Amino acid sequence: MFRIICSALLTFVICGVGTAKAQSWKAGAAQANITPQSFMWMAGYAARTRPAEAKMTELWAKALALDDGSGKPAVLVTVDLVGIDRGLSTGIREELAKKYGLTSAQVAINCSHTHSGPVVARNLRPMHEYSLEPAQQELIHKYADFLHASVVEIVGKALAGLAPARLEWASGTTDFAVNRRNNKEAEVPMRREQGKIVGPSDHDVPVLAVKSADGKLLAVAFGYACHATVLDGYAWSGDYPGFAQIEVEKAHPECIALFWAGCGADQNPIPRRKIELAEKYGRMLGAAVNGILAGPLAPIAPKLATSYAEIPLVLAKLPTRDELVQQSTDKNKYQAMRARMLLEDIDAGRPLSQTYPYPVQLWRLGSEQSGGQVQWCFLGGEVVVDYAIRLKAELAGTKTWMAGYTNDVMAYIPSRRVLTEGGYEGGGAMVYYGMPTIWSEQVEASIVEEIHRQAK
Ligand SMILES: [Zn+2]
Repeated sequence: MFRIICSALLTFVICGVGTAKAQSWKAGAAQANITPQSFMWMAGYAARTRPAEAKMTELWAKALALDDGSGKPAVLVTVDLVGIDRGLSTGIREELAKKYGLTSAQVAINCSHTHSGPVVARNLRPMHEYSLEPAQQELIHKYADFLHASVVEIVGKALAGLAPARLEWASGTTDFAVNRRNNKEAEVPMRREQGKIVGPSDHDVPVLAVKSADGKLLAVAFGYACHATVLDGYAWSGDYPGFAQIEVEKAHPECIALFWAGCGADQNPIPRRKIELAEKYGRMLGAAVNGILAGPLAPIAPKLATSYAEIPLVLAKLPTRDELVQQSTDKNKYQAMRARMLLEDIDAGRPLSQTYPYPVQLWRLGSEQSGGQVQWCFLGGEVVVDYAIRLKAELAGTKTWMAGYTNDVMAYIPSRRVLTEGGYEGGGAMVYYGMPTIWSEQVEASIVEEIHRQAK
């Protein structure tokens, strides 16, 4: 089930040159198949009425360890899943700290946000809870344990496989992501034909190529800012990111391709709902990556800095207990379920908190002195595209790589603009995440300030 790629043999080549010991990157990658072994409940759509009943593609957890020679590696973990909740993510990262000495700054767990994977622990709990019988609840518990063990195992294997490597990068584009708040889905084909797609999008495809010392491609990590919501059926699938990873690995059979989801919470792949379209967008993204790999790439000097913080992200005015009691019999069953869960928490001695510990993480690869630096920003939650556009403008353009859905997917993260406009991403979705209310108006300023603080 596991595959490890390392360039161990190539160490001899490097040592044989007999040059002075310059610092060099080391890299290791590993992956595990995390397709559920049972047909359990699927995550991402409230409208599903039964568990999965088929498999279209496998789901993967992949780990890429990068060490600049200092012995303090960073490990990117990508999972073909809708999201991960704070409890499960914290548990995994605590075990990685205990077993391998990795701090929170050194580990980033990014979810592809496929809507054709299993329910993951308590992620999106009010959305699915209604449908779940005890047997399904049991499968969800078991799957969380299995996922935990799989991630710990592949991180261990990636670290064990660390071997001399070269890192290179470039950025391309592909344009199937459409701002879903500004374009009616049915109008998109016509709008596209007429060049009238409107609203902000981030079509960048940043690519990190990890090669052995003699240039063999070992791993590729690439990102894109768009919901993985082409498919809404009953078959396990990585959706377009799954097909994109397959496309890259088909062209480079020896390499592990890792997809990270960007800040695409308000972006959809449109048109959608057909298998051919999921495959098509996968091919488009894969072709963008393969094209970049064939072209000139910029080397990244072996220098790595990692930082991580959980900032107290402030919520708007909290509901009172009486308001929750009232909501608990609301005819909107998701609203009612959220209220009941929050009341359960309160009654168990866990009062509502005015703030949420929101994870912000930054990795810097390379150095300003030699060849430039890539800044890799990892944010929790479903982050709207405004953050990517703003931070790329304020930091370093395409040298700033934006990831959402990382370490904890607790809610949508609207910008000030989207929060003010409202709608699903502005606040409506909070109910499905079990959050007591919407974010306060400080949400964007707090997150951006923290990224700038870490970037300094
Ligand atoms: Zn989403």
